Amino acid sequence: MCRATGGTVGFVPTMGALHEGHISLIEASKKENHFTLGSIFVNPTQFNNKEDLAKYPRTEVEDTEMLRKAGCDAVFIPYVSEIYPEKPYHIPEIDLNGMDEVMEGAFRPGHFKGVLQVVYILLKIVEPDVLYLGQKDFQQQAILRLLLDQQFPQIRMNTVPTYRSESGLALSSRNRRLTEEQKVQALAIYKTLLEIKSQLPSNNVSEILTQSKENLENTGLKPEYISIADQKTLSILDKVTENDRVAICIAAFAGEIRLIDNMLWPED
Ligand code: AMP
Repeated sequence: MCRATGGTVGFVPTMGALHEGHISLIEASKKENHFTLGSIFVNPTQFNNKEDLAKYPRTEVEDTEMLRKAGCDAVFIPYVSEIYPEKPYHIPEIDLNGMDEVMEGAFRPGHFKGVLQVVYILLKIVEPDVLYLGQKDFQQQAILRLLLDQQFPQIRMNTVPTYRSESGLALSSRNRRLTEEQKVQALAIYKTLLEIKSQLPSNNVSEILTQSKENLENTGLKPEYISIADQKTLSILDKVTENDRVAICIAAFAGEIRLIDNMLWPED
């Protein structure tokens, strides 16, 4: 009906356990499209850790209520067998130029293969005009941009800024599993990103990152990586000049909860 009258469809894929960050994507889509579709699917193929998948929060009743209140027009909650039927979808090879081998890709083997697989299938089913993604998952949106360029040139991507709590903590479904103490610890990620940003440009990135790693460790977090990457190619940089456009990316554990966050430089 929407398409028959020339309307556009905005699509917001999620794994549920929704929060204000997800809702900001719905709001961005509602502003720019006639119809907004959300989806909730905890995609098993993108989890490299079985326990992480088993513990991933599932709150469908609250999620659908949040989507309704936000004015989302419809929600797609497929079964695993719909996305991965017996006769599987053929997923074409996407040329990623090594973008899936650094940062998240280096620490979560197979993760981006799973992400590309599920997003490819969802886009084939939904056929949206615009795909809404969060800057929170910076590497994911950079890689999915290549999927769109190579397989879905008719679909536009809109990346929505990271939604943070007043204190600066990036909202994440995984935050629900943090204790009060860990929530305070996790703030060090935000502060560290700001500190790194304030020291750019720099000829000596490794010194900055070593110090930042130490600062995170002193708060009780266990950093997995702190990297500065070119925004487009995701090449890891050891110096940053005035002409660079970079993303500062951190993954760190608070207890057993793995958190990621990033900031863009020169501007966010
Ligand atoms: P997820 O449910 O974690 O797979 O996230 C679904 C979408 O919401 C992805 O495009 C995320 O990047 C985005 N998202 C998650 N957290 C935030 C946030 N705090 N601010 C903005 N977007 C977010």
